[in-house]
Amino acid sequence: MNTQAGTVTPMMAQYLEIKAAHQDALLFYRMGDFYEMFFDDAVAAAEALDIALTKRGKHMGQDIAMCGVPVHAAESYLLTLIRKGFRVAIAEQLEDPAEAKKRGSKSVVKRDVVRLVTPGTLTEESLLDAGRHNFLAAFSELREDCALAWVDISTGALSVLGCEKLALGPELARLTPRELLVEDSMEQALFEVTEGFDLAVTPLHRGAFDSSGGAKRLAALWQVASLDAFGAFSRAEISAMAALVEYLELTQKGKLPLLRPPQQEARMSAMRIDAATRRSLELTHAMGGGRDGSLLHAIDRTVTAGGARLLERRVASPSCNLGTISARQASVAHLVEEDRLREDLRARLRGAHDLDRALSRLALDRGGPRDMAAIRATLEVADDIGALTEGRDLPAPLAEAVRDLSGHAALHELLDQALVAEPPLLARDGSFVAAGYDEELDEARRLRDEGRGVIAGMQAEYAAETGIQSLKIKHNNVLGYFIETTATHAAKMLAPPHSERFIHRQTTANQVRFTTVELNEIETRILNAGGHALELEKRVFDRLKGSILDAAGPLGQLARALSKIDLACGLADLARGADWCRPRLDDSRAFHVEAGRHPVVEQALRRTGESFVGNDCDLGDAPLWLLTGPNMAGKSTFLRQNALIAVLAQIGSFVPAASAHIGIVSQIFSRVGASDDLARGRSTFMVEMVETAAILNQADDRALVILDEIGRGTATYDGLSIAWAVLEHLHEINRCRGIFATHYHEMTQLAAKLDGVATATVAVREWQGEVIFLHEVRRGTADRSYGVQVARLAGLPASVVERARVVLQALEQGEREGPGRGARQALIDDLPLFAAVPPASEPGPAAASAVEERLRELQPDELSPREALELIYELRGLL
Ligand code: ADP
Repeated sequence: MNTQAGTVTPMMAQYLEIKAAHQDALLFYRMGDFYEMFFDDAVAAAEALDIALTKRGKHMGQDIAMCGVPVHAAESYLLTLIRKGFRVAIAEQLEDPAEAKKRGSKSVVKRDVVRLVTPGTLTEESLLDAGRHNFLAAFSELREDCALAWVDISTGALSVLGCEKLALGPELARLTPRELLVEDSMEQALFEVTEGFDLAVTPLHRGAFDSSGGAKRLAALWQVASLDAFGAFSRAEISAMAALVEYLELTQKGKLPLLRPPQQEARMSAMRIDAATRRSLELTHAMGGGRDGSLLHAIDRTVTAGGARLLERRVASPSCNLGTISARQASVAHLVEEDRLREDLRARLRGAHDLDRALSRLALDRGGPRDMAAIRATLEVADDIGALTEGRDLPAPLAEAVRDLSGHAALHELLDQALVAEPPLLARDGSFVAAGYDEELDEARRLRDEGRGVIAGMQAEYAAETGIQSLKIKHNNVLGYFIETTATHAAKMLAPPHSERFIHRQTTANQVRFTTVELNEIETRILNAGGHALELEKRVFDRLKGSILDAAGPLGQLARALSKIDLACGLADLARGADWCRPRLDDSRAFHVEAGRHPVVEQALRRTGESFVGNDCDLGDAPLWLLTGPNMAGKSTFLRQNALIAVLAQIGSFVPAASAHIGIVSQIFSRVGASDDLARGRSTFMVEMVETAAILNQADDRALVILDEIGRGTATYDGLSIAWAVLEHLHEINRCRGIFATHYHEMTQLAAKLDGVATATVAVREWQGEVIFLHEVRRGTADRSYGVQVARLAGLPASVVERARVVLQALEQGEREGPGRGARQALIDDLPLFAAVPPASEPGPAAASAVEERLRELQPDELSPREALELIYELRGLL
């Protein structure tokens, strides 16, 4: 690079030109074994990747900042950059540097961007989560008509849905796409909706959303005369799909991934669950954001990546269609009964690879021999499963899946014959075609290997001829083959008669290297044969790829069939192992669960050896339950478990209960626990009210609503009044099924007035002044709230607990005596002041006994080091 101010070297000129076309991305500029970044890109990347920032030459008198990552390790750096929200344009060298030199010394190697890497367009195994989808979505609005389309380019699955703007948030919550394409003029308007999601919003120019051009382009893509072949699409739906395709062409630089024909989702076929409900039910992600602790994590027993992704899809959108649900349930039920078959199937499925993603990489020219071997292994699994289920009487959906596994005998045989057992990752390394498959290749390999044998012979001959036993023939990339001796023997070779034959090539510190005319000839032969063999292998690779991609459609179907079988086996295994029951579903308004359990809490308890107490819930006669009970009794758990049981039932799974009868639930709403949304500048109370408003405005009579402690975020009487009015609204207007947990005991009076409301309480027992949580939900109301006892359990200092007890007694007494002469005033007047802190002069007995009491009640064995330290602080505070 030029170091003079003001001039631009040819390479910098090339760099700047490419960069100008990719302003919004970091440019990875290939130079030999590195991707280099310059200027601002280098500064940003060095910081994001925590790598060294260096300088290289000057541009317009300024130092050029530079940093680089080695090509072989580029994937992990890419992953970090994508996670941090960057887009990366990869500019490769498009010719051999030698070619460029031929054009003249000033000539630069041709380079151009071969791919734009963005969060929604990843295909590399290492950049993807095997069990999760990686969706790229596009939202389109054409006058009143709106639609959302989404594609997982690593599997080729593409779906589209008519989706009004209001429904966009819930859909984004369901699908969790990594990237959303919108028309550039709409980016701002959609900010309100998109800001809460972990997703990159990519604006595209208006033309990308053109629906008439789009329809033609899509029809051409799927080789149909008209898109009607796949269903009746609205203009907005076509426009959203067209934007996806346009963007894929843009980022893949003209190479389109395998796109399956679009699946049009019916508007009402999936249970509606909004973003807040998904979060609070922890369907696919736990509150903390991770997977651990989510429903999905607790029930995933699949053994293939495709099966795991299918489960994720199902959990994210449970069905409302009785036919669909009962078909899925039938497969699971069959496999629950047939232990042997299920185990055999699972054992086979473990050998399957990620067929979808292997296919997709091959279609994008990013695949290698190992992807082909993955397809071969999966076909093997499909054959085995076919044989295993032969002649069996399977329920229809399973039988259909098994049918989809067959029909690939020819391809299977081809791959079997053509590939070695464990091929390398990259086609350019060669050695993946099996011996005996291609005669010409075998011949080329023989020549190459023979050449190697000849060289071994030559070494012996030269050693004998010169009498230098230590003489060796070696190979390196600079000299090719050469003869090497130590410096001591070299003189002999440099003198006649040997000097006539041995040509000196190089002297290093300890060695002297020679060559001969024969050696050069042999080397050329080996190189030619080796090169020829590689070329032939590449040709075989392309042929195999052609055969595979020709079958891409049916292979995709096979992948789906395997995923379905895997999912059914996984759910059956779960049901069997955890003692779940098959729920009865129908069109009624029943919700009758006997001895229901919370699948995630139960698993957590089991790990510590505790057992979960099953609880009944019957919303048949009284569709709304008003649930009271002290904190920590298990109210939230009970609320959530019933919602989760509905979700599980409608994905076709068995449920954690002794029995369950559920009339289809069309939408679930959950407001459980308050969380501040300070990032959006809303208080806990505000968030709670916004979410409650959404429920009251949307829930219909097929909805299931669970509400926990509505009104907690404000003053008592405000809160109570709001909770009261909300319950009345649910009862009178929404007429939904639901459970309403509250700590306002006053509300139980309301239940008596509304005939659709029943009361229930989580029972506790009081024993020697302590509460014992029974976790049993019973009909009726709680007699008191036990808050003081719970506070004590939580480790509040004994003095505070004691003081609270006295205050409570006085308050309760005041309430009994009526509001009359300010009972509270009397309380304030009569009670001694907080007495835990003794006068400083004499160590009072009260303080000493508080410390003693605290010490007496603790169990040293149960304390963690951290708790012990906290305890010391606490004790110190009591002195
Ligand atoms: P609340 O909402 O009443 O404050 P939670 O539902 O959060 O109480 O439950 C508190 C804890 O009690 C849970 O973390 C769980 O460990 C335990 N728990 C809840 N329900 C049960 C149950 N049915 N069986 C056993 N343990 C339970």
